[in-house]
Amino acid sequence: MKLNFKDKKALIRVDFNVPLDKEYKITDDTRIREAVPTIRHILDQGGSVILMSHLGRPLEKLNANGSINTQKFTLKHLVKHLRRKLKAKVHFADDCVGKQAVKKAAALQPGEVLLLENTRFHPEEEAGDEGFAKKLAALGDIYVNDAFGTAHRAHASTTVVAQFFDKNHKTFGFLMEREIENATRAMKTPAKPVTCVTGGSKVSDKIMLLEKFLYYADNILIGGAMAYTFFLAKKGTVGNSLVEADKIKNALEFLKKARAAGVKVLLPKDSICGDKFAADAKVQIFPSNQIPAGWMGLDIGPSAAKSFASVIRKSKTVIWNGPMGVFEMPAFAEGTKVVAKACASATKKGAFTMVGGGDSVAAINQLKLAKKVSFVSTGGGAMLEFLEGKELPGIKAITD
Ligand code: AMP
Repeated sequence: MKLNFKDKKALIRVDFNVPLDKEYKITDDTRIREAVPTIRHILDQGGSVILMSHLGRPLEKLNANGSINTQKFTLKHLVKHLRRKLKAKVHFADDCVGKQAVKKAAALQPGEVLLLENTRFHPEEEAGDEGFAKKLAALGDIYVNDAFGTAHRAHASTTVVAQFFDKNHKTFGFLMEREIENATRAMKTPAKPVTCVTGGSKVSDKIMLLEKFLYYADNILIGGAMAYTFFLAKKGTVGNSLVEADKIKNALEFLKKARAAGVKVLLPKDSICGDKFAADAKVQIFPSNQIPAGWMGLDIGPSAAKSFASVIRKSKTVIWNGPMGVFEMPAFAEGTKVVAKACASATKKGAFTMVGGGDSVAAINQLKLAKKVSFVSTGGGAMLEFLEGKELPGIKAITD
């Protein structure tokens, strides 16, 4: 952040979409902690900070009478915690636009913070309404986008608002800078060999990512339920495993393109299967292309985990998106664990390893290995789209 914030009011889009329990206590404050350096930097320079964020999807979960459940979705739940983390005065405005927000923003003193109410209480937010964005913009002198997780959405507070600030009055925050830097490094100037690891539930979600990986990967490892669509495409038997029969053509085309590009694609040779999708399922290992009826592949098998780990450990760049199995159930978490550990050991040997997008981040956190890889992205869908090579509206709005 090169701009000088002294005596300026910074309007920062943060991602404070934190999980809350039934008593509205924060159960994981990672997103708040990660925003602190940007906010503190501005306050320490003698600026003041106006924070805007969404929390949940209030317009999709209305009260029975059609009104917004303000009690559940208010950002007021975060004020006390924010005061403690920032060690600063934190005011709250009951609405992100309107008289009170204007008054409180105008009265803000250097070193103070104003948290605005949930931007998604207004349908104009997700609609990217210009008039609404203009009202938000009027509250601050400089716009800072530090919400990478929503950068793929052209919402009012994430994208449209930026058009009301010139180049010298808008910037990325530290968190967003790091996300862009790391993903760019992984994609544009990766040290070879490059290994991309994908998993998760659906080929349809990841096919674009897989195709993009063909441009810079030496190895592509495919785990998770995705793998079974590939086995099915190769005329294997996959029992009751989760498959997308309508993606068989895409899977075959991808394999053909990979062969033409000289990219090695590894599918898991064996699978840990369950007789049902449940933590207490009966468990048996089968070759992934010979899973009998009544069984479903729920994790990569020990032999596959070993060969995936070996490729990862020999790589200089690893990009990992999506768990290898149903890691939420201990019986099917081993494959993901082995891959996470291999990433940690590659990192130790000097590789650049990035975990991003979707549940692989939850998995690496659950395994307490987040600090042992080079970078863990906070932006699920946003990171996926960035890696797919799409131009994210939230980024474009700042750089344009
Ligand atoms: P995604 O959001 O696409 O990255 O998918 C993550 C989800 O995929 C996790 O909740 C996993 O439990 C699930 N998953 C991974 N492997 C399998 C599998 N073999 N069968 C069913 N679900 C799986």
